[in-house]
Amino acid sequence: MEDRVNTVLVIDDNEVIRRLAKTLLTKRNYAVETAKNGQEGIEIAKRIKPQVILLDVMMPGMDGYEVCKRIKEDAEIADIPVIIVTSKTETFDRIHGLEIGAADYVMKPFDQGELLARIATQVKLKNLYDELQEKNRILEEMTRKDGLTDLFNRRYFQERIAEEFSRARRYDFPMSFIMFDIDHFKEINDSYGHQAGDDVLRNLARILVNHIRDVDVPARYGGEEFSLILPHTTLKNAVIFAERLREEVAKHPFLFHEKRIPVTISLGVAGIPDNNPSSCNELIRFADEALYRAKQAGRNRTVMYMRTTE
Ligand code: GH3
Ligand code: MG
Ligand code: MG
Repeated sequence: MEDRVNTVLVIDDNEVIRRLAKTLLTKRNYAVETAKNGQEGIEIAKRIKPQVILLDVMMPGMDGYEVCKRIKEDAEIADIPVIIVTSKTETFDRIHGLEIGAADYVMKPFDQGELLARIATQVKLKNLYDELQEKNRILEEMTRKDGLTDLFNRRYFQERIAEEFSRARRYDFPMSFIMFDIDHFKEINDSYGHQAGDDVLRNLARILVNHIRDVDVPARYGGEEFSLILPHTTLKNAVIFAERLREEVAKHPFLFHEKRIPVTISLGVAGIPDNNPSSCNELIRFADEALYRAKQAGRNRTVMYMRTTE
């Protein structure tokens, strides 16, 4: 964090100003990039994501106000603070400058000390802001994830299945859902210990993640129960996937002190439109019922939900 190089982008049509700013800022250990007009400035900003942008108002073509507005309307660079540079002779409207999202402004010809102080303040704020964003991202990630397996947790899963269900319904896409559970997991805990049981859960989660597509949503549904949302997947293809996963797990060498722990799973699969559930909760219930039948039928197998005719 301490030795991070902070970058300043100077957008000014005047070459003398660009060179002056570059010399001054380079001496203060900033990395400096320059652009001679607004268009170029925006392109460079998007590419290098500087900590701060020094922006001249009077430029041919796109003036500084317009450039600032475009920066603030572009989500990719909107968070970069813009310091507007204006000359004393121009009638500069501070209110307007701040209204369009500028963080601060300085007058040309600028006092070097003042310019450096204003840049330093904005860089500091920007870096704090970035750190906060990163912490929020981690926090959000944590509230969505299961601590043991790093899969999504039940709460996030519930949100997603509701979304995926209504999307599939609205656009008439197929969508499938798999619920699976480790067979006789209690015995694994009893024979090898809880720690070994946890390792099995973690390794099983890894196998799952390695076999799915980016759009699939894998979750730890409960203790040793997992769920997988498969958007855009027909029931038939979901069953094929489930069988492949079952085989992968059955042949995977789960080891405990060099001894192999036999691990198998039972899976229940349901899908739309085939099973025609009335809600996402009913879809979950269908897969759960199929899973129950897989257990009853002897475990280590996949059962596809069939709506029983009343
Ligand atoms: P079945 O084949 O019918 O699913 O039998 P089972 O033994 O897997 O099912 P049961 O529901 O009887 O037991 C599940 C066990 O999973 C009991 C519980 O202690 C264990 N378990 C749940 N969560 C965890 C966990 O986070 N870590 C470990 N090690 N064990 C867990
Ligand atoms: Mg079980
Ligand atoms: Mg269970």
